[in-house]
Amino acid sequence: MATVQLGTAVTYLKGVGPHRAEALRRLNIVTAGDLLYHLPHRYVDASTVSPIVSLEPGMEVTVLGTVISKGVIPTRKGLRIFQAVIRDDSGMIEASWPGQPFLDRTIRKEDVLLLTGPVRFFHGRQLVPREYANLGNDGGARSGTAGGRVLAVYPATEGLSVKVLRGLIESHLDSLLGLVREYLPPALLARAALPPLPDALRMVHRPPTIADAMRGRARLAFEELLFVQILQRRARELARQRRRGITFVNRRELTTALRAALPFALTAAQVQATREIVSDMCSDRRMHRLLQGDVGSGKTIVALFAALVAVENGYQAAIMAPTELLAEQHARTIERLLAPLAMQPVLLTGSMPARERKVASDKLRSGAPLIAIGTHALVQQATVFGKLGLAAIDEQHRFGVEQRAALGAKGGGDAADVLLLSATPIPRSLALTLYGDLDLSVLDERPPGRWPVKTAMRPESARARVLEFVDREIERGRQAYIVYPVIDESEKTDLRAATTMFAELAAGPFAHRRAALLHGRLDAGERDDIMRRFRDRELDLLVATTVIEVGIDVANASVMLIEHPERFGLSQLHQLRGRVGRGAEASYCILLGDVSPDVAERLRIFVETDDGFAIARADLRWRGMGDLFGERQSGMPTFRVADPLRDEQLNLLAADVAQELLAADPELARGENAGMRKALSERYSRALELFRVG
Ligand code: ADP
Ligand code: MG
Repeated sequence: MATVQLGTAVTYLKGVGPHRAEALRRLNIVTAGDLLYHLPHRYVDASTVSPIVSLEPGMEVTVLGTVISKGVIPTRKGLRIFQAVIRDDSGMIEASWPGQPFLDRTIRKEDVLLLTGPVRFFHGRQLVPREYANLGNDGGARSGTAGGRVLAVYPATEGLSVKVLRGLIESHLDSLLGLVREYLPPALLARAALPPLPDALRMVHRPPTIADAMRGRARLAFEELLFVQILQRRARELARQRRRGITFVNRRELTTALRAALPFALTAAQVQATREIVSDMCSDRRMHRLLQGDVGSGKTIVALFAALVAVENGYQAAIMAPTELLAEQHARTIERLLAPLAMQPVLLTGSMPARERKVASDKLRSGAPLIAIGTHALVQQATVFGKLGLAAIDEQHRFGVEQRAALGAKGGGDAADVLLLSATPIPRSLALTLYGDLDLSVLDERPPGRWPVKTAMRPESARARVLEFVDREIERGRQAYIVYPVIDESEKTDLRAATTMFAELAAGPFAHRRAALLHGRLDAGERDDIMRRFRDRELDLLVATTVIEVGIDVANASVMLIEHPERFGLSQLHQLRGRVGRGAEASYCILLGDVSPDVAERLRIFVETDDGFAIARADLRWRGMGDLFGERQSGMPTFRVADPLRDEQLNLLAADVAQELLAADPELARGENAGMRKALSERYSRALELFRVG
C-alpha cells in the first residue's frame, strides 16, 4: 500500500471496506484526515463510572459492563421492551429499553456497554438508559477505562457503531498523527498557552484525563476561531481601504449646542459610542458601524449626534425606520430635541399626501443640509438626495441587505457613511464573529431614572385575577397589551390565538374598554392606524401578535401580558417587555399559562433579569444561534469544534491575537506565518481572495 497521507481516501485504510466507507461518508468522513478530525463528543471518566453493586433506586449513574443475557419482552399493553442483564466486577443489574425491541439486533451477548440513566425500583433495581454506547466485545474497550484513563465516545451512525469507529481511529491514530505538522507560529501558541496540533489531537482522542481532553479541544477550537477572525478582519480592512469616504470635520457647533440643550446627561456608553462614530466620520475611510444596544438604551440620540456632524459639514443625513409609526416617532422626538437649535427634520413616508411628499423630496434633492427621517420611501427610486453624508438605519435587521445598501448608495457623488442600529443584544465576542465586516459600538448601560418592569409568571388558575389586574390598570388610566403567539386557532397546535381571544376578551372581561386587534395580516396602513390610535390614547387595550415588537414607544402603556410564553424566545420576550416601562410609573410584564418545569426554568432568567445581554446569552444557549438570527445570518461561519458563545474567552483571545498578527503582518507574508496562511487557504476558499498566495 502506498503511504497514507491526510488527503488519502479512507477506503485505503486498513479495516475500511466499501460498506464502512459508505457509513463513514454519512459522518462526513471521506479522507484519512477527516477520520483524524472526527472528534469525540463525549468522554467518560473511569472515576465517574459506578460499580453496579453500589446502585440504588433514585440515582443517576454511568455504568460500564458486559451483556450476559438479553431479550425482548412483550407487555400487556402491547409495548415491547428490550432488556439486558449487565455485569461488571461488582455485580449485575437489569437494563430496560421500553419500546425499542430493535436493539435486540444490534446489542449482542458479550458486548461491553456504557450506560447512563436513572436507576429505578421495578422487581428489583433496574437501569433505564437514557444514553448508551456499545463498545463491542474487544477487551481494548474495557482496558480503555482502566488505570484512570478516559474513554472517548464518538458520534456514530447506523451501520457504524461507536465501537467500530473507536477501534478504527485508535488503530490509525499514531500513524495519522505522524503526518500532522504544527502550522501556527510557536510564539502565538505560547501566547495562547495551548499545546501544538499533534499533541492536541492526541489529547482529544486518547486523553489521560478529562482536563487533557479539554485542553486539546481548546487548541482546535482556538484555531477555528482565530482563522475566522483573521479572515473577517482582513476582509474588513480590505473593504475599508477600498471604501474611500467623506472626511468630515468635527466642528462641534451643532453637536455642542445639542448637548447643552439636552434635558438629560448622556450615559458614559452614549458618550463613548458617539466618540467612536465621530472618529469614523472624520477619517477618510467610509464608516460601516453597528450600534448595538438594548431596548431603551438611547440609540436614537447617538444617531442624532452623527446626523448633526454631517449637517454641520454641509451634508444631509438620513435616518430610516422599518415602520411609518416608528419614523413618525423619531421625527417627533428629534423635532423636540432640535427645537433649541432652530432646526427641523424632514419626514418622508409612503402614506404622506402627495403634495407634502413632493415638498419633502424636493428638499432632499436640493442638497441643502438637513436631517431626513423616513421609511423605505427614502430608498425608493424617486427619492434623490443631493448630498447625503450619513445613512443611519434603525432596527437594521428589519431591512434586507439590499435596502440597507441602497440607502448607503443614495449619496450621489460621495459614499455616505453608514450607521446600523440594532436592539438585539448579543455578546461582543459573538458579534465579532457574526458581523466581522462591521465595526461595533455597544450601549451596555441604560439611562438612569427608569423603573424596571415588574415581571412575573402566573399559572392558568390565576387567569381571572390577572385579567382583573389588567382592567384595574386601565381603570387607573393606563394602557395594556395582550400578546398571543399566533393569529388564528388551529387544530394542530391547540394554542390560544389573537383573533379568537380578541373576540372573547372584547365581549367579556373588557367589554367596557376600547380594545383593538393588531396582527401581521392587516395591511401596513391599517396597522399604523391602530397603533396611532393606541398612541393617542383612543384605545385602552391592544390584543396583538408580535407585530408590536418593533421599537414603538407608548409611555402610558403599563402592562404587557403574554400568553403561551413557551412559544417565544427569551430575546423576543425581552423585546416585548421593552414596550412597557417607558413612562415614569411602575409597569408590569406578566407571563400567563401553565408551562412545563423545563420551560419554567428557561423563563426564570427572563423573569429575574432585565439585562438584555444576559437574556440573549441564555437564549442562545437554549435555542442555538439559528433561531435568534434567522436567515439573515446564513453567511455565518460554521464551526466544527468551537462554539463562539461557550468559548467566549477563547474567542476574545482569538480576536486579540488576530488583531496583533495582522497589525504586524497584514498579508501574512512573513516566513513564520507561511504555514498558517497555507492552512487557511486550504480550509477557506475565501482566503484566496484575501491573501496573495505564493
Ligand atoms: P432605543 O435604544 O430603544 O432606541 P431610545 O433612543 O428610543 O432607545 O431612547 C429611549 C428613551 O430614553 C427616549 O425617551 C430617550 O429620550 C431617553 N434617553 C436617551 N438617552 C437618555 C439619557 N442619557 N438620559 C435619560 N434619558 C435618555
Ligand atoms: Mg430605537
